[in-house]
Amino acid sequence: MRDMFLSLASSAYALVDRTPRLTVLTLHRVHPTAEIRPRHVERCFRYLASRFHVTRPSELDAATHHRRVALVTIDDGHVDAYRHIFPIARASGVPIALCVPTDFFLRGAWLWFDKIAWAKQQARAGTRIRVDGVDLLAGDPTGFESLVVRLKRDPPPRRDEVIAEMFARLAVAPPPSPPDEYRSLTADEMKEMLRSGLVELVGHTASHTIATVLPDADLRRELKESKAELEAFSGRPLAAFCYPNGGRGDFSPATSAAVREMGYALAFTSIEGTNHLRRAEPFTLRRVHVHPRQAVVEKLCSGLGDVQNRIAGRVVGDA
Ligand SMILES: [Zn+2]
Repeated sequence: MRDMFLSLASSAYALVDRTPRLTVLTLHRVHPTAEIRPRHVERCFRYLASRFHVTRPSELDAATHHRRVALVTIDDGHVDAYRHIFPIARASGVPIALCVPTDFFLRGAWLWFDKIAWAKQQARAGTRIRVDGVDLLAGDPTGFESLVVRLKRDPPPRRDEVIAEMFARLAVAPPPSPPDEYRSLTADEMKEMLRSGLVELVGHTASHTIATVLPDADLRRELKESKAELEAFSGRPLAAFCYPNGGRGDFSPATSAAVREMGYALAFTSIEGTNHLRRAEPFTLRRVHVHPRQAVVEKLCSGLGDVQNRIAGRVVGDA
């Protein structure tokens, strides 16, 4: 009942709202046992296709005469995109933009936070250790999750040192490349998706380190090399960049300037909200996360969620 009301309120808001709107939807992991499952994505894509002109970052400029435009971004390029999202994109004709860190996609590296998620599954019953001031207890996800939050803003060398210490204390060793559950899309899977014409690549750095954490020279090197590598792989210029983590403090005027100077036309944050289609600042675009409740997706995509956040004085999306 509550959801039916929310869904109706979102439709009513979309009818009266005159703002030309750009809604950027975002997805991370999607599989049958994840919080966001293929059926959620299916419902969500059907809704987008019926209410929005859904396009891709490189064609956004050509879409500004529409009143409601949407983009779909998928962060990180796990195999889920091929297994569980691409088939839905193909069936619904909804284009998707993949934000791909190149060390993960092209060099078989782990995403550092996935190593901690894997360690959580491997910890032997009864294990209790303390790493970097955080208590890790086998069978309890809390400590592992706070360790990820704690390490997010550390420079890569220190972060990797703490992760190595965690594995040493747990007495388990991660395989050199991520196992199936944590693996990236392969080159072949990516090529097949690119050939469909529905998939576009988005820069997401090489190492998936928060932009404001990297020294400027390192950030520029990662931006430059990852963009060149993805362009060489896809044979097409990249229009958009996506800030790793993307919350407030994870990008700044200096990082946005670096992104713009690399030749990108727009950049995505993880701050919750929709954007004015023509007047939004292109290097700090807001996004909307897919939610298991479709009514919440409709509230956020329609712009009703922005009104609600404004009234409550809330900034949502800081990770
Ligand atoms: Zn990411």
